[in-house]
Amino acid sequence: MPNPIIGIDLGTTNSVVSILKDKLPQTILVDNAKLLPSVVCYTDSKFIVGQTAKNMAILEPENTVLSIKRKMGQDISLKIGDREMRPEEISAVILKKIRDTVVEQFDFNENLPVRCVITVPAYFTEEQRNATKQAAEISALQVERIINEPTAAALAFGMSALDEAVYAIYDLGGGTFDISVIESMDGLVEVLATKGNNELGGDDFDKLLMDFIWERFLKQNKIVNVYRTRKEEARLIRIAEQTKIKLSSEKVVPVQESFFLKNNGINYHLEMEISRDEFEGLIREKIQSTTTLLAEALDAAKLKAAELDGIILVGGSSRIPLVADMIQKKFNVDAALISHPDEAVSHGATIQGAIIDNQEIDTVLIDITPHSLGVAVMDDTTYDKLYSLSPEQVGKDYKPDLGTGVIIKQNTPIPSKKSRKFSASVPFQKKFEIEVYQGEGKRYTDNRNIGTAMLEVAEPLEHGTIEVTFELDINGLLKITAEETTTKEMVNAEFKSSKGVRVHKSHVETAEMASREESDNVLIRRAEKLLDNDEIVAEDKAELTELITRYQQKQETEDQAALEETENELLDLLYYLEGNED
Ligand code: AMP
Repeated sequence: MPNPIIGIDLGTTNSVVSILKDKLPQTILVDNAKLLPSVVCYTDSKFIVGQTAKNMAILEPENTVLSIKRKMGQDISLKIGDREMRPEEISAVILKKIRDTVVEQFDFNENLPVRCVITVPAYFTEEQRNATKQAAEISALQVERIINEPTAAALAFGMSALDEAVYAIYDLGGGTFDISVIESMDGLVEVLATKGNNELGGDDFDKLLMDFIWERFLKQNKIVNVYRTRKEEARLIRIAEQTKIKLSSEKVVPVQESFFLKNNGINYHLEMEISRDEFEGLIREKIQSTTTLLAEALDAAKLKAAELDGIILVGGSSRIPLVADMIQKKFNVDAALISHPDEAVSHGATIQGAIIDNQEIDTVLIDITPHSLGVAVMDDTTYDKLYSLSPEQVGKDYKPDLGTGVIIKQNTPIPSKKSRKFSASVPFQKKFEIEVYQGEGKRYTDNRNIGTAMLEVAEPLEHGTIEVTFELDINGLLKITAEETTTKEMVNAEFKSSKGVRVHKSHVETAEMASREESDNVLIRRAEKLLDNDEIVAEDKAELTELITRYQQKQETEDQAALEETENELLDLLYYLEGNED
């Protein structure tokens, strides 16, 4: 029996993993919590992932990476401690933590692959999808399917069980916003249109609130000419996020933080109140941009808001009351929060996994490609001529005749296979170079170049024509094949992705992950080190000892909220005392 397929939502802020149990998806607890913060810290030659890593962002920002999903698909390296790592390697560390947890908690056969369905924002490009797949492969996960997050949410909502319905799935998470219009008909779920912004989410609200709190703090205390260090930023972000979350259920939230800033020998504490009105004033424009995208998605699906059966809210940030309010005002349609908004996407991925494994779930999923795929073609003559000219001459003295045709249109259901013919422009043309573009711009230069396909005909004809086929697989990944139309001979077609740098697996494979105990004890070890430090006064040491005991007691209990509160107190004191040592 193969191992069951797990569903992974690899989120910007949090990741969630689930598995099918009694025909229903069930969230797997990682470190005792449903949401695993997508944060990686590299300290003491080991990787820590999750809540402890998030805490370490405050104490060791230089060793910590947050929101790596935003960098996926970019050809860059990031510094984490003394290491240089690519985005997919950092994501792989998060996935390794998930994989290890699942294998440990469930009776998985270690000799068989650990299979998963993994979700990505609908707006992810080919490069970003590929990077996600690579990250999974590096962490020894076998990717059965990549699906779009809103589509997964539709599956979790149970749309496939509805005979005929059209919903908009509004997914506002930590770092990305997606909107999809989805139709269900006789068990068939089809995405009609999708829009989004992968640079918009709860992280942005945290930043706006962080600046607001900082400005108010400086004003209250009449402090001038002070700059925030990375440590203060990390601390402020934590405070801002906690305040934001409380403001979803309360109208006014007190903000208190001891030893917030030491300036000219004076210790300043943070003490203020933030109202929901003030917070809404900060984020109104951002939420408005999401409702504009919703209107655009409806236009693309040729639907009016009144024709929708409903709007389903997904993602942690959809809990902000202003979201449903603004949607209701603009479209006069009630938006309903899905149950378990932060777990729904992972649950949908698990349902998709069950479908792949032919489990008893009655759904066929039709996904679409979010971007058009097209080409700019260069024949031999154009190629030679272009290369004989200086860059300044190109476009002025000579305008290359580049085909810019779309082969697979935006919003085409996937998998999809589409072909296009190219005639040779010189007799016996052997080589064809095809630049592949993704995007909706009219000119090829307005779109993203995602790579080059080199086609080589073995035995060129005098008047040759080749037919190039683009095949978008079910994961939205591109394959290119070509055929000589007269001889029907397969043409050697090699597609080189422009960002397809191979990752060295060794980086992550040899990386040691901190054990649960090691990770839990990071703060305690730091605190104990301070107890041995002669420069710390007895009064502070007594407070520290009391906090360590309290923290250890809370670790024994299941009460996550109480643990978090004590953890924050300990963090604050550590931050203050370590700062004093410097
Ligand atoms: P997700 O990517 O769906 O896990 O969403 C994570 C984002 O949701 C983070 O920015 C959280 O701060 C935010 N979030 C979670 N719960 C709430 C809440 N009750 N109110 C506002 N934002 C929330």
